[in-house]
Formats: sequence, structure tokens, C-alpha cells
Amino acid sequence: MFESLKKKLKSIFSFPKEEPAQEKPIGETQEIPEPAKAPEPAVEEKKEEIKESPRAPETGHDIEEKTELLQEPAIDEKPKKSLFSKAVSRITEKKLGEKEAGEILGNLRTALLESDVAYEAVEKICDEVKGATVGASVERGKTQETLKKALADSLKDIMACERPDVEKLIEAKQGVYLMLIFGTNGAGKTTTIAKLAHKFKKFRPVVAAGDTFRAASIEQLEEHSKKAGFDLVKHSYGADPAAVIFDARKHAEARKSKLIIGDTAGRSHSNANLMDELKKVARVNKPDMKVLVLDSLTGNDIYEQARIYDQAIGVDAIILTKTDVYDKGGACLSASYVTGKPILYLGTGQKYGDLRDFDPDGIIKKMLG
Ligand code: GDP
Ligand code: GDP
Repeated sequence: MFESLKKKLKSIFSFPKEEPAQEKPIGETQEIPEPAKAPEPAVEEKKEEIKESPRAPETGHDIEEKTELLQEPAIDEKPKKSLFSKAVSRITEKKLGEKEAGEILGNLRTALLESDVAYEAVEKICDEVKGATVGASVERGKTQETLKKALADSLKDIMACERPDVEKLIEAKQGVYLMLIFGTNGAGKTTTIAKLAHKFKKFRPVVAAGDTFRAASIEQLEEHSKKAGFDLVKHSYGADPAAVIFDARKHAEARKSKLIIGDTAGRSHSNANLMDELKKVARVNKPDMKVLVLDSLTGNDIYEQARIYDQAIGVDAIILTKTDVYDKGGACLSASYVTGKPILYLGTGQKYGDLRDFDPDGIIKKMLG
């Protein structure tokens, strides 16, 4: 799901490889002065420069500079050691300058914005990466690693919203736990409800067909209930969804189920009547968890959707769907940061098993690995 962002990050961080010198022989770098006893980091640095530009031996300022440094001990015999180690440390360590980091940070900012990472999250990430790298002493050969680590730390931070353990919450609840599912039409609510019922089979879930508005929504759930094997409580179209969920509760109590998953009509978040109806459902049925289903393909609009639903009825957690066909990845990274709500699961396909725990560490590993 992060292929495009992953590629972008890879190209930003893939400068010509710098390696610590110990691993390689001097090679064709004849001008390296003898007295320094070929301190390896310097030699390697030189070799790297030559590789990057074949004309470097004649014209490269860098090399001249480094050669000078290495020659210092030879000029003044006495402080040989200290000057020598100073020279080496100037070569093996360096500060990543503002200018040098500028290009990298600029590219990073663009890549993140193009990948749907929310603006405020992008600013935070870039500030943190800059803070952790610019002016900091970076060991030679460790620039990429240092930048990547700073990025990984920052991404971890923006995904840090604590996820509730749904299974534990259901178990701990005295009586039946009600999960209310809502979101815009086509976001993937129905499919996600079937996936949740499949996932929590052991609680003998009862699904309440609370979308009494959209044609075929009840039939769609009936199909799923047969295939995935869960109980469905339904009324006819036009019925009061609050009443459907109320009936589902009676049914669940009678068969000692621990979980009700309540569907609701998919609404445009700008439709005031349907928003009011959703408020009523929440008021009457008192859900234990209000779960907003968001289609990751919607891109940046998910932040606005989340804000409006949260204002209307309060969002406890988010499920992001279609992440298997969502190449940009940014919504998964910054949805929690922007909304302050945890992402519970990612929808990763159309099969019942395609509901994955949201795992920030795994995401970072995959993306930067
Ligand atoms: P050095 O150790 O002084 O050669 O430079 P660094 O450790 O900062 O960078 C390692 C390599 O990355 C060098 O070959 C630089 O030319 C290259 N590099 C520096 N900045 C950038 C950048 O913004 N983008 C890319 N792609 N490469 C860069
Ligand atoms: P609803 O209108 O919110 O109930 O949305 P549906 O559950 O009917 O889903 C709309 C479409 O998205 C259907 O074609 C689903 O198969 C598809 N869909 C839902 N979740 C996922 C997912 O995680 N991955 C993929 N690839 N498709 C999904």
C-alpha cells in the first residue's frame, strides 16, 4: 500500500553509497600521503569521491582539502598523533549542514504531501527530521542511516495514538457490547461489518441492519450473513434504525451473544437529516464504540470527514479500507495524528480475512526497509 511513497523515499535517501573506509584497499588513489599510514576512513572517502567523478583527482576540492589534512602530521612531527586523530575525526565525522539538508528535506516534504500525508503532519515530520540531523555530528557513511532513523522516529510519533484492544473491551463488558459503524456511502461499511463479524466469531456477533435507507443494503448483509455465518436482525426499508439496533440487542441477549455490530445508512457528511438520524441512533442505543469507516482512496478528504463525524456524534476509532489498492499510503500515516483517533484496522482486500491490525512499526519497517 505504500509502494509509491516507498519509492519516493528510496530515491530521496539513495545517494551514492558512502562506506566507512576500513573495508576497502587504497586502489587507484596514489596521492594519499604515506606518513598518515593510510588511515582507512580517509582513503575510502577519497575513493568514493573518485568514483563519483572521474575527474576528481585533478579538480576535486574535497580531495585536496582532505589530503592537506592528512599531510598535517608530516609537516609538524611533534603533535603527530593529536593532529592526526583530529584530521581523521574531521573526515569520519561531520555536521550535516542546513544547505545540504535543505534539498533532502524539500524532497521529503514534496513526497509526503504528494502521498496524502496531511499538511500539519508533514510540517511536524520535516521539522523533526531537520532537528535531529541538521547541525548534528553525523558519522561518515551514516548520513542515510541518520536521516532514515529520524524519519522513522517521527513517523512513529505521528502514528502513536493508542489503539484500544477491542477483544478485551468486548470481554470486559457486562452484557452485550455495541459497535456502531458509520461512514459515507461506498466507504466499505458493509464489507467491513462482515469482516468484523468474521473476526469476532467467538463472541457470536449479531449484526443489526441499520441501513434502512439505501436500496439493497439489507440484501447485501443477508448475503454476507449466510457466507460468513452471523445472525442478522433486520426490519424493512424506511424503518427506524434505532429500533433495528434495539431489537438486535434483545436478540443478542436471548442467544447470549457478546457483540452487536450496528450498520447505519451511509450518508454524505453534509446531509443534515441523515446526520441527525445518526445522532439519534447514538443517543438511543448508546454504543460502546463508535467506529468511523473511511475509504483511504478518498485521500485528503478523510480528515474533513473525520472532523465532521466527530463533531456530530463523536468518533472513538477509525477503520481505513481499501489500503490494498491505495498506493499513496499517506492517509494511514497521518489519519490518527490529524483526527486524534486511533486506527483500529486496515481493510486490505475483499475477503473476510482481509482486515489487519493497524501496526505502525510494521508499516515503518515496510516503508523504509
Ligand atoms: P559527504 O560525506 O561529504 O560526501 O556527503 P554526505 O555524507 O552528506 O552525503 C553522502 C552522499 O550523498 C554524497 O555523495 C552527496 O553528494 C550525496 N547527497 C548529499 N545531499 C544529497 C541530496 O539532497 N540528494 C541526494 N540524492 N544526494 C545527496
Ligand atoms: P458501503 O457502501 O460503505 O457499505 O461499502 P461496501 O462495503 O459496499 O464497499 C464498497 C466497495 O468497496 C465494494 O465493492 C467492496 O468490495 C469494496 N471494498 C470494501 N473494503 C475493501 C478493501 O479493504 N479492499 C478492497 N480492495 N475493496 C474493498
